[in-house]
Amino acid sequence: MKKQGIIYIALLIIFGIGLIHGEDIDKKLWQKALEIHQHALVIDTHCDTPMIMMNENIDIGKRNDKGDFDLIRMKEGGVDAIFFAVFVSNDMDEKQPSKIALETIDEIYRQVGAYPELTEIAYSTQDIKKLHKTAKRAILIGMENGGPVEGSLPLLRIFYRLGVRYITLTHSNNNHISDSSTAKEPKWNGLSEFGKEVVKEMNDLGMIIDVSHISDKAFYDVIEQSRVPVIASHSCVRALCDVPRNMSDDMIKALAKNGGVIQINFFSGFLDKEFYDKSEEIRRKYKPEMEALKEKYKDDRKGYWAEAVKLWRKDAPPAPEIETLIDHIEFVIKLAGIDHVGLGSDFDGAGSFPTGLEDISGFPLITYHLLKRGYTESDIKKVLGENFMRIFEKVEKGKKGKTGGSK
Ligand SMILES: [Zn+2]
Repeated sequence: MKKQGIIYIALLIIFGIGLIHGEDIDKKLWQKALEIHQHALVIDTHCDTPMIMMNENIDIGKRNDKGDFDLIRMKEGGVDAIFFAVFVSNDMDEKQPSKIALETIDEIYRQVGAYPELTEIAYSTQDIKKLHKTAKRAILIGMENGGPVEGSLPLLRIFYRLGVRYITLTHSNNNHISDSSTAKEPKWNGLSEFGKEVVKEMNDLGMIIDVSHISDKAFYDVIEQSRVPVIASHSCVRALCDVPRNMSDDMIKALAKNGGVIQINFFSGFLDKEFYDKSEEIRRKYKPEMEALKEKYKDDRKGYWAEAVKLWRKDAPPAPEIETLIDHIEFVIKLAGIDHVGLGSDFDGAGSFPTGLEDISGFPLITYHLLKRGYTESDIKKVLGENFMRIFEKVEKGKKGKTGGSK
C-alpha cells in the first residue's frame, strides 16, 4: 500500500495521470496544486522518526519501507522543514530520561550529518528560510514529554543549546511538569509549580511550548502563564472526533486568541471516532499479549517494538479518507480563522493515516484538496507553514537574555 502510494504520487508529479488510490484527480487542479505546493514553505511540526531510527536502525538518507519518513520521500512530498520528536516515554520518567533524550539527539545529529548535501539541522526561522532557498530539507528538533528535563532548569537550557526548539510538556501520563489529557486522574490539577517555572524559562529561552497531550486544565494554565503564542504540534478537533487528546472548541478559540496554532494530526484515530473506537477494542483484545511482550522484552526496546507493531497491524481497521483530515482543517478555519491552523503529521508515531497520505510523500494531496474546497493560494500557504512561522518568530522575539549557547 505504502509503496504503491509513492509510485502513484511520483507518476502524478511526472505525468499528471488522473488516478490516485482509485480517486479521480482533476488534472488541471492537480497541476495548480503542485505549483502552489512547490513554491510554498511546507512545514510538518511533528514526526516521530527518531524513535524508528533508534528502534529499527533506519537510515534517513535511504528510502525505507519500515517507516513513514526518509529524506527521499520528504522531497517527493515537497516538505521543506520537519520537527523530529525526541520522544521519551513517561514510563522512563523515574529512571534516567535525559540519557535517552541525549542519545536520541545524538542519533539525529549523526544521521543528519551523514547527508550534508540533502539536509541540515535548523535552529531558527532564519535557518528555515535560508534552507528553503536551497534544495536542502530542514530538520528541527522538538522534545515529546518534558520528563528528560528532570526538574532542572539548567538541563532545560542545555536542551535548548543542543537545538531543541519545542517541548511537548508531557505525553500520555502525568509528569513532573504537567498533567496529561490521557492520565487516569490529575496529579497537579494542571501545571505543577515547577511546570510554571518551565513555561517562563521556555519563554525566556525562545523555546516553543507545545500543548498537545496535556490536560485541558494544564492547557488553560499554559495560556495564562505564557507571554508568547503557543502551539499544539499534533492535535485534532474534539467536536469532530471526541477523544481527550483532541481540542475542544473553547480551547481552539483560546489558542487562537493567544495567537497560537493547532497543527492537525494525521493519525486516523484522532481524525475519526469510529476508527478510534475500533482501535481501542483491538487494544483491549490484545492487552494480555502486550503485557506479556513488555515482560518478555523488559530490557530490549527494539524487540518489544518490532513485536508490538506486528500485533497491532494484524487487526487494524481501515483508514479514513483524506477528506476527513481536510474537515478538521476546515473546522478550525471556520471556528478561529485561517491564521490558526497548520500540519503536524505524527508520522512514525501512529499506526494509521488517511488513504493516500500513508507517508510523507502524500503531502501535495492536502494542497490539492484545500484547493478543491475553494481556498486561495495565500490561504493554503498559511496552513502549509506560514502560520507556524509567524508563531516561531514571535517566540524568538520574546526571548530574554543570553542562553550562552552557540545558536
Ligand atoms: Zn504524540
